Amino acid sequence: MILKNYNLKALNSFGVDVKTKYYYALQKIDDINFLFNQKKQFLKKILVLGGGSNILFTKDYDGLIIHNQIKGIEKVEENKDFLTLRVGAGENWHKFVLYTLKMGLSGIENLSLIPGCVGAAPIQNIGAYGVEVKDFISKVEFYHIKERKIDKKNKIECNFGYRDSIFKKSLKNKVIITHVYFKLSKKFNKVISYGTLKELAQKKSTELKAEDISNFIIEIRNSKLPNPENIGNAGSFFKNPIVSSSKIEKLTKDYPQIIYFKIDNNNYKVSAGWLIENIGLKGYRKGDAGTYEKQALVIINHSNASGKELLLFSNFISEKVLNTYDIKLENEVNIY
Ligand code: FAD
Ligand code: NAP
Repeated sequence: MILKNYNLKALNSFGVDVKTKYYYALQKIDDINFLFNQKKQFLKKILVLGGGSNILFTKDYDGLIIHNQIKGIEKVEENKDFLTLRVGAGENWHKFVLYTLKMGLSGIENLSLIPGCVGAAPIQNIGAYGVEVKDFISKVEFYHIKERKIDKKNKIECNFGYRDSIFKKSLKNKVIITHVYFKLSKKFNKVISYGTLKELAQKKSTELKAEDISNFIIEIRNSKLPNPENIGNAGSFFKNPIVSSSKIEKLTKDYPQIIYFKIDNNNYKVSAGWLIENIGLKGYRKGDAGTYEKQALVIINHSNASGKELLLFSNFISEKVLNTYDIKLENEVNIY
């Protein structure tokens, strides 16, 4: 059933109080036919929503929100080394990670406790603690809204990049991702190169299990990041900027403490959190919008900030960064 003037406050992790003109909870693939047989007025403007943890609504949505709740996990291929699972886009991401660990599978344990749904994981190629989900996705299945048909893209066609994919570019707002295929290993291949995790390796050495990494990450995240249930936020508001080698030379001269990571000979990733913190804006607040006291890259809603206030605050932060370092921050959060 299509609902009218539906409130989205509980459906976005910033907790912004906005409404959508039309709302539809998509629970199974067969419902797509029902939906697209509706009157044209409902289908003029469409936005798909998962867990709402990477989105900022700056006003009421003047169209149809399709809330993806397609569930189900099925085995599609198996050999002695790997298992491929086809997973409904509406499955909760973290619950899915825990499910894979229970099945004895390895790969996505470093992505534990990322909020949101499975269907959104390929969109920005979610990443954390040295792992990106692209390395475990074999296929993405979706409904193409204009072409009115189910289609799929394999891993290469998804054009995955750093917090990026085809779904943020040419297919943005054109598809409803319905299922994601994950190829996971039956052997534990630990990834503990990320700074914070090295400690873990020293502690556990040979007995380390995928669950240990997951539990350790859950602990760090719980201690360092604001829980959206208590403090509205959408994780990192900006992407870490990638700069050239000549730019990094200049930055390290001006700011010897700067935190950066080499990607290749010409490209360096700079910690956006550090750039903001170094200007003195960690824990900074304007009205109900602010940066989080433990991580400056996370913009928070102290209680009743509107989407517009949060957007203005984010513009204020990125202007300060631009004026200080001549670096233009790119939003990671999707703004509507
Ligand atoms: P939503 O916010 O609902 O949607 C995000 C975008 O994808 C929107 O543009 C939406 O239109 C589109 N979309 C969603 N589902 C579909 C679908 N089925 N079909 C088509 N389009 C769709 N991200 C990371 O990468 N790494 C992290 O470590 C991380 N940590 C976070 C920590 C916190 C505390 C928070 C609040 C966020 C964090 N995030 C992180 C960001 C966020 O959790 C991820 O980007 C997540 O994948 C978003 O999922 P979602 O279902 O909430 O997406
Ligand atoms: P952190 O450990 O304080 O590190 C700050 C930044 O430095 C991170 O953004 C990370 O880049 C980079 N970094 C650190 N060690 C690195 C290494 N060994 N190699 C390459 N890059 C390295 O960051 P944090 O805020 O606590 O977050 C921890 C992890 O969770 C990070 O991977 C971060 O991306 C992820 N996270 C993401 C979001 C989000 O919304 N996107 C929110 C919270 C946490 P990367 O971001 O590229 O990893």
